[in-house]
Amino acid sequence: MTAHKAVTNLSEEEQMFKESVANFAENEVGPLVEEMDREQTMDKGLLDKCFEMGLMGIEVPEEYGGAGSSFFNSILAIEELAFVDPSVSVCVDVQNTLVNNAVLRWGSDEQKEEYLPRLTRQSIGAYCLSEPGSGSDAFAMKTRAVDEGDHWSITGNKLWITNGKEADIYILMANTDPDKGYKGITAFIVEDDFEGFEVGKKEDKLGIRGSSTVELILEDCKVPKENVLGEVGKGYKVAMETLNEGRIGIGAQMLGLARGAFDHAMNYIVEREQFGKPVAHFQGMQFQFAQLATEIETAKLLVYNAARLKDNGEPFMKEAAMAKLRTSQIAEKVASQCVEFFGGVGFTKEYPAEKYYRDAKIGSIYEGTSNMQLQTIAKMVLRDYE
Ligand SMILES: Cc1cc2nc3c(=O)[nH]c(=O)nc-3n(C[C@H](O)[C@H](O)[C@H](O)COP(=O)(O)OP(=O)(O)OC[C@H]3O[C@@H](n4cnc5c(N)ncnc54)[C@H](O)[C@@H]3O)c2cc1C
Repeated sequence: MTAHKAVTNLSEEEQMFKESVANFAENEVGPLVEEMDREQTMDKGLLDKCFEMGLMGIEVPEEYGGAGSSFFNSILAIEELAFVDPSVSVCVDVQNTLVNNAVLRWGSDEQKEEYLPRLTRQSIGAYCLSEPGSGSDAFAMKTRAVDEGDHWSITGNKLWITNGKEADIYILMANTDPDKGYKGITAFIVEDDFEGFEVGKKEDKLGIRGSSTVELILEDCKVPKENVLGEVGKGYKVAMETLNEGRIGIGAQMLGLARGAFDHAMNYIVEREQFGKPVAHFQGMQFQFAQLATEIETAKLLVYNAARLKDNGEPFMKEAAMAKLRTSQIAEKVASQCVEFFGGVGFTKEYPAEKYYRDAKIGSIYEGTSNMQLQTIAKMVLRDYE
């Protein structure tokens, strides 16, 4: 018995969707996980299958080639993929919760017609905000966009861009009017074959090694006028509002990761015997896995609740920040404990426990560090009292 299929609080349709992604993850992603981690590559054929499965345009309306489904289903897909591999999960997460969402929410009709069919069928998207000098303080970006009359010319460096190696469509923030501070920030849709665009170095990372993280170099990059996403000077809104949704996605990734690590560890400790019985039968172990199971349930409720609020059109910023903060803490704790449940072999590559442990760390860093989530939560809590 595994925790693999355990679902609560889902409609029949959601449950069927979740199970279909779980099967896909187990059968198609599972066999490639170890190699993608070792070689630091994302399998191209696997990405093609993600497109075929409809996982790259879950919320995109059918008229643009998408599945026309809910944000909640995107969250379920991200969770189930992370159960098997958090790297494939984040690739699908960025595509759905950041890139597609930005185009759906802020794109003109022409942009939707041009980009959404590509994003649902064959193009990987990336979301480009961070720079060498601006991470938590994202609006301090140095990348500049200059109006050249018939086009925009963008110059600057972006860092840490997930999917950057595989992508051909980039949602990229640049400042068009630095004197206006963050009110000069503008979102652009940039393509990999635009003149002056280059993918730079790829990071050699602790975890989620199958997911590419790259630098982007823009040197007088020529971007058509019609590729401004939303309004000039409103890029800060595009960035912040998409990231609010994205954080629920990272929560789902961390939830799936915690469940995956737990599942492997439980299957091991019910078999592994010491002192003449399975180690899972010692009360010392039982209290530990009971605690972890409870933490995972907490993670699930936080993530699902935030996603439901979003789909219901209710405010969800605080809940999204809480979900990301707490699930990343839980994933780290669960993954760490699961390494211990395996004993010595947990510390080797013979079992996936060490990979989940490495993969868990990123949850408290990207799409806003834990301190930034605490800052958001504190601001919103204070608002109720002052
Ligand atoms: C694998 C990976 C993938 C990523 N993918 C993307 C991507 O696709 N697109 C993208 O745009 N970015 C991406 N990022 C960037 C990521 O969002 C940033 O790394 C993150 O926001 C932190 O920024 P920073 O690295 O500059 O750290 P810093 O901002 O320099 O933070 C350093 C430390 O200081 C703390 N800190 C900073 N300011 C405060 C404060 N005011 N109060 C309290 N503590 C503070 C932080 O919490 C942190 O602990 C990715 C990063 C990684 C590692």
